[in-house]
Amino acid sequence: MQRICVFAGSSAGAKPAYLHGAARFGSELARRGLGLVYGGGARGLMGALADAVLEGGGDVIGVIPRSMVEREWAHPRVTKMQTVGDMHERKALMNQLADAFVALPGGIGTLEELFEVYSWAQLGFHHKRVGILEVEGFYAPLLGCLDRLVDEGFVGRQTRSLLLLETDAGRLLDALLP
Ligand code: AMP
Repeated sequence: MQRICVFAGSSAGAKPAYLHGAARFGSELARRGLGLVYGGGARGLMGALADAVLEGGGDVIGVIPRSMVEREWAHPRVTKMQTVGDMHERKALMNQLADAFVALPGGIGTLEELFEVYSWAQLGFHHKRVGILEVEGFYAPLLGCLDRLVDEGFVGRQTRSLLLLETDAGRLLDALLP
C-alpha cells in the first residue's frame, strides 16, 4: 500500500475551512486506497484528517513520541499507533513509511516538518515528492517568502519547483504519485 505522510495543525485554526480541507483530504486518501502516516494526534486538523480516513475505511498509522501519549494526545482509534522515543525517531519513521509528503495548514510544528522534508529533498537525501494542500490562501505569505529567497539568490529555481501546491486534494495526489 502506498502511504502519504501528512503534517497538519494540532489546532483547528481560525476558519472552519481548515478543518473541512483536512477532512476532504482524508476522504480522498481513503477513496484512493492510500494509507495515511501522521503524527498520531486526536485534535485539530490532525484529528479531523485521521477521522476522515478512518470513516472512509482507510488505513491510518500514527507515529507519536511516548511523552505525547502520556499527555493523552494520541488518537484512540487509528489502525496502528507506533510509539517512539523522541521527535527525531518520529520523523525518521514517518519518512521511512511514506511515499510522499503533504502539509495542510498548521503552526510551527507543521512548518518545521514540512521544511525538513523539503530541505532533505533539495539535498537529494530522499526522492519523494513534497506538496502543500492550499486552503483559503493560507500558504500564500510563506510562498511569497520562498519566492523572495529565490529572487535574493538563496534558493535555486529547481529547488523552488520541488514544492508542489494544489487547492484540490485529488489534483495534489495526482501530482505527488504520478
Ligand atoms: P502544530 O502545527 O504546531 O500544531 O504541530 C503539528 C505537527 O507537530 C504535527 O504534524 C505533529 O507531527 C506535531 N504535533 C504537534 N502537536 C501534536 C499533538 N498534540 N499530538 C501529536 N502530534 C503533534
